[in-house]
Amino acid sequence: MKKTSVLFFAAVFAIMPATAQQTPEIFQYRSTPVGVSVLPELQQNGHVHTLIGATPGILKKYAPDGIIPSAVNAFLIYRYGQLTLIDAGFGRKLFERLQSLGFTADDVSVVLLTHLHGDHIGGLLRDGKAAFPNATVYLSKQEYDYWTNDEAMNKLPEDRRGNFENARKTLAAYEEKVFTFEPAEINAEAQREVIPGIYGIAAFGHTPGHTMYKIALGTEEFLVWADLTHATAIQLPHPEVAVTYDLHPEQAVATRKEVLAYAAKNALPVAGSHIAFPSAGWVFENKQGGYVFQPALTPEAVKKTVNEQLQKYAGTRLQDIYKNFFQDYFGPGHIIPDAAAAKKYLQEELDACTETAGVAVEPAGSEGNFYRVNLSVVKEKKIPFNLFLDAFIESANDVIAPPPAVWTAQWNHIIRIIDNLQLDIPDYEADKERLNNLLAEGKYVVHHSDTYEEQHKPHYRIISKSVFEKKLRKRL
Ligand SMILES: [Zn+2]
Repeated sequence: MKKTSVLFFAAVFAIMPATAQQTPEIFQYRSTPVGVSVLPELQQNGHVHTLIGATPGILKKYAPDGIIPSAVNAFLIYRYGQLTLIDAGFGRKLFERLQSLGFTADDVSVVLLTHLHGDHIGGLLRDGKAAFPNATVYLSKQEYDYWTNDEAMNKLPEDRRGNFENARKTLAAYEEKVFTFEPAEINAEAQREVIPGIYGIAAFGHTPGHTMYKIALGTEEFLVWADLTHATAIQLPHPEVAVTYDLHPEQAVATRKEVLAYAAKNALPVAGSHIAFPSAGWVFENKQGGYVFQPALTPEAVKKTVNEQLQKYAGTRLQDIYKNFFQDYFGPGHIIPDAAAAKKYLQEELDACTETAGVAVEPAGSEGNFYRVNLSVVKEKKIPFNLFLDAFIESANDVIAPPPAVWTAQWNHIIRIIDNLQLDIPDYEADKERLNNLLAEGKYVVHHSDTYEEQHKPHYRIISKSVFEKKLRKRL
């Protein structure tokens, strides 16, 4: 018994990801003892001519330049010392990515395949041999049956059988170490656990056996949805749009709608094989129709934002940091009951503030969807009162705010990154708990801390980036 546990811990330490060597192109969601790393093979622009069912109106709104940001990713899952790869990309950068995390191909003990297209299985072979000599390979029975079916292959002209030949050659290299399973429906009560803590979910349509994987990460779950989207910027607001390389486009559309509804309802963190960097985040329903994707912030972005805020604003507490990130997603929405009240508040604040310190304009959070615009610009008459007020109100109407559950998940992700920075901020732990309690109650608005108020006398309004650039920038 004792011997086993020693071995177990030895294995855990041997296989800890080397976060210090992490290259910025790898996105990590959590780390030890459980975590997901997105290993990008490439970032690219997809073209709108591959879309089925995108109207001119959709294209004009979501792909005005005719291009769609996209990527090719593999995923590395570590769970209590075991290294599992989900897909293998083309194999162009995969091994370099593994190496930068401190691993070799020999360390991978399981490969889970979502489907057998070349951009997902290319990395399984190296010089024609199994690139992961110690790995067992799992895929859905439906996917295996399709690509090994001669009848399906012979339906195609000879020059279009490459995918079949490639799939067969790749599976053959792993021979008796290939296992199949039947994935469960996403809403099924009985789940299909493929290996401990990782579940196979049917997402048929893109290919006959296309499979997603849900991973248990401590108290939460994470969904690798593979090729559920190829043009995320279009297929989230319009899940009915398919792509020409879906083998069954109608089924792919039905699957996409079902999975998006599930992911949104459960505020599930997701990652996709073809979502542009960082390729992971959350989806939520847009009340106007369709869905919105909110990318998870990268550790690099969070670190930069927090360090800049601490440098600029002595007296910053955790709640000021929270507020900064919060404003990036919620804009000014929550503080405007109506236009008349907004006008009254603005006038009162202008009358009351005798000193306006600090910079005129600065972005909120890491993404800079919204700017903090100092009331000094009105005091100093650079921007007329009414223009400023209009910009503020227009900004409030410009917000597609995430539901509290998605914001809470993003904040939990942000705070894990901030924890790792080990900052010396007074009352950090107590403030962290207070914020957690607030979020648990479904509330999420906080004021600046007293120390911040005293030292910086913040007097600003939150204005959306697009409104600011369009209406105010030229006057400053
Ligand atoms: Zn693909």
